[in-house]
Amino acid sequence: MGPEVGGRARRESARSREQVTPRDALRGALLAWYRAERRDLPWRRTRDPYAIWVSETMLQQTRVEAVIPYYERFLARFPDVAALATADLDDVLGLWAGLGYYSRARNLKRAAEQVASEHAGRLPEQTDALQRLPGVGRYTAGAIASIAFDRPAPIVDGNVARVLARICGLREPIESASVKARLWTEAERLAQGDAPGDLNQALMELGARVCVPGAPRCDVCPVSRWCQARAAGDAADLPRRLPKRAPKLVHAVAALVLRGGKALAVQRPEHGLLGGMWELPGGEVGARERGPAVLARVLGERTGLGVARVERAGALEYAFTHRDLRIHLYRCEAARGRVRLHGWDRHRWIAPGSLGRLPVGTVTRRALAALGVCALRRG
Ligand code: SF4
Repeated sequence: MGPEVGGRARRESARSREQVTPRDALRGALLAWYRAERRDLPWRRTRDPYAIWVSETMLQQTRVEAVIPYYERFLARFPDVAALATADLDDVLGLWAGLGYYSRARNLKRAAEQVASEHAGRLPEQTDALQRLPGVGRYTAGAIASIAFDRPAPIVDGNVARVLARICGLREPIESASVKARLWTEAERLAQGDAPGDLNQALMELGARVCVPGAPRCDVCPVSRWCQARAAGDAADLPRRLPKRAPKLVHAVAALVLRGGKALAVQRPEHGLLGGMWELPGGEVGARERGPAVLARVLGERTGLGVARVERAGALEYAFTHRDLRIHLYRCEAARGRVRLHGWDRHRWIAPGSLGRLPVGTVTRRALAALGVCALRRG
């Protein structure tokens, strides 16, 4: 018996003499279930901190199935911190197009530059140093530290919050500061021991596949014996939430503006919603505002261009988190004159068929498809 094995045996024997607490038992059951049942996902085949960071950033607000092709394309194109740090922002946004929440991509790129210049290209292991990187909050720092570096760092995302609220029987609205603090405390108490990264992923996996919203599958749950909500019979009602406000309906116009066979594309300012992404010119209008004259006014105000031969080209709707957007689409010809932008940083005149190759968000891609100038891309 070698010294390492002997040391492990002594530690295990000492541990077996200690009392096993309910939390230890829950942790053991959760880890055993995860190791037997976990899905084979691309980012679970690596311990590369950079790859884990990319995956965790993409997984915020986005489903696993949607992330997989983006993750694989992104890692193939930017395989390490140095590649991302030296990349062109347009290329990064182009690979992110369709995934939404584009500030994530801009922050990832800025953070890669910071890691390259301040940490010699290696992600730091400590959560406080990780949280000093743009776009890395407590959740992402905890995920990187625990999964890539085996540090006892907690994570709380939507899945983990639901699982812990049910296990602990928390019945106050989950948005309340006291419930949030309690969730982080409980997550911290669990993310200890030999495999904090596996434990954190087990909580997320349980939330995604067993302790699901609405109808939790308590009959197959590995931690049901420690679950207060199951014992009380109100698991399906937890977590409680504050009532949501109905999303506001916003109307907008947008147009394929042509001149000499080229179409006008405009780029949003780097900071703010959809920062750095390209789109068709247009803007918000009042609920009852419609028609060529309204489009001409908006384009005049925001591009300085006069327009002629305006044609309606349908409408599309898109639901953001806090608002529903209805966009009225047009085609038109631009009169002579210089483009003077208000609210965008840059413009380009580009062949209509190439518009879809710019970094554009989902709404613009759908508008281009509705206008017949690019196909919708899936995945
Ligand atoms: Fe969730 Fe039910 Fe398991 Fe409790 S017993 S953690 S409610 S699936």
